[in-house]
Amino acid sequence: MDLSYGEELEGYRGEVAKFLEDNWPLQGDEAKLDWNEQAVKFRQRAIDAGYLCRNIPKQYGGSEQEPDVLKAQIIREEFGRTRAPMEPRGIGTMMLVPTLLERGNEWQKEKFVPPTIRGDVAWCQGYSEPGSGSDLASLKTRGELVNGEWVINGQKIWTSGATSADYMFVLVRTEPEASKHAGISYLLMDMKQPGIEVRPLRQMTGGADFCEVFFTDAKTPEDWIVGKRGEGWLVSRTTLKHERNSIGSTQQTRALFAGLVQLAKDRKIDGKPAIEDPSIRQRLAALEGYVKAHQYAGYRTLTKDAKGEDPGMITMMNKIISTNIGHDIARLAIDLLGEDGLLDAGGTSMAAMMSGGHERWISHYMYSLGIAVAGGTANIQRNVIGERGLGLPRDAAAERSSK
Ligand SMILES: Cc1cc2nc3c(=O)[nH]c(=O)nc-3n(C[C@H](O)[C@H](O)[C@H](O)COP(=O)(O)OP(=O)(O)OC[C@H]3O[C@@H](n4cnc5c(N)ncnc54)[C@H](O)[C@@H]3O)c2cc1C
Repeated sequence: MDLSYGEELEGYRGEVAKFLEDNWPLQGDEAKLDWNEQAVKFRQRAIDAGYLCRNIPKQYGGSEQEPDVLKAQIIREEFGRTRAPMEPRGIGTMMLVPTLLERGNEWQKEKFVPPTIRGDVAWCQGYSEPGSGSDLASLKTRGELVNGEWVINGQKIWTSGATSADYMFVLVRTEPEASKHAGISYLLMDMKQPGIEVRPLRQMTGGADFCEVFFTDAKTPEDWIVGKRGEGWLVSRTTLKHERNSIGSTQQTRALFAGLVQLAKDRKIDGKPAIEDPSIRQRLAALEGYVKAHQYAGYRTLTKDAKGEDPGMITMMNKIISTNIGHDIARLAIDLLGEDGLLDAGGTSMAAMMSGGHERWISHYMYSLGIAVAGGTANIQRNVIGERGLGLPRDAAAERSSK
């Protein structure tokens, strides 16, 4: 198997590396700006050079490059190596923008895509409800068209980032008489309005990253609907596909594992670096096997993409595998930390994860439990892989609930 990218693409890698050498980190007075301001400036240069927002047309603020998954992979690798900022990571850029580009109409793309990819506006995802998580199509929040506006009543839960979001993309039941999946519409709505109450939920990490959101006659204009009335289920499938793609990243797993190896070098067992202890080495070696397997599964997806073939179930498998490995890596880190691993994760989980200290691992461990649930639980994904990927009979419970 040839895992090299070939001469032409290695030449492209040289171009990307040169761009990064010249542009990141910023120099002179620009280096005195805070990180976010530097990132905004750098991203614009990277878009102008054709390295970021590649699949977004120029009219919506992107760099509109010919699709090339191998070039995109090289950019990810080089930007990752030099820790240069890529597109802002968030629900808006990773989930809503691809959905709007695929299913939105012209004015929606023009209004919402540019400020979202610049990071000027933040989005949250209003899908889950109490009692409607895995069985999402049973959702009850109502949307009624009254005098040219959608009027929304009901409740969402586990809405990440709802306290700081400017907008929500939300699934509501607009056709109560239609069958379960056919009665749902996909709406965009302004979060800053009197009909919306956001209540943060405290997590075991100490942070409050997600919320309950209550709608009491909340409103959104009639044309803030993506796709047709009653087609929200179809539109929401586009969004979920992008969510799983973004979660199943092999680079993140490799970076996490590299951090674990460093931790094993730094921690001591009986006065010697933990990495020299046979039982720790054995666990590290087993984990490295999974990390490598995950990396090669990533190449498999890349090869399929490069050939224009649908990666199908591999993407879904990658999400399960990466969340499992992430959990096992964090578990070993907690063991290496010993008593220090009992410390409070402290502050918000996201801030703790970005820090270099022990709390990063505690937070990772706690968060790894949630990541296996976010974007569709591992059980549900195994069902999908079994049923759609392997052609096994449908799950009996799901069969009953869809009737
Ligand atoms: C960190 C995090 C962030 C999130 N962010 C958001 C967000 O921004 N917006 C949003 O809308 N939602 C969000 N969610 C919610 C998430 O999508 C739901 O938690 C998820 O879909 C599961 O739904 P549930 O919690 O209601 O669990 P349930 O559906 O009640 O599932 C409970 C358990 O039963 C199992 N189960 C259920 N049905 C079946 C079945 N048919 N076969 C086998 N097993 C089954 C599940 O696997 C799970 O183990 C987030 C969740 C987490 C953890």
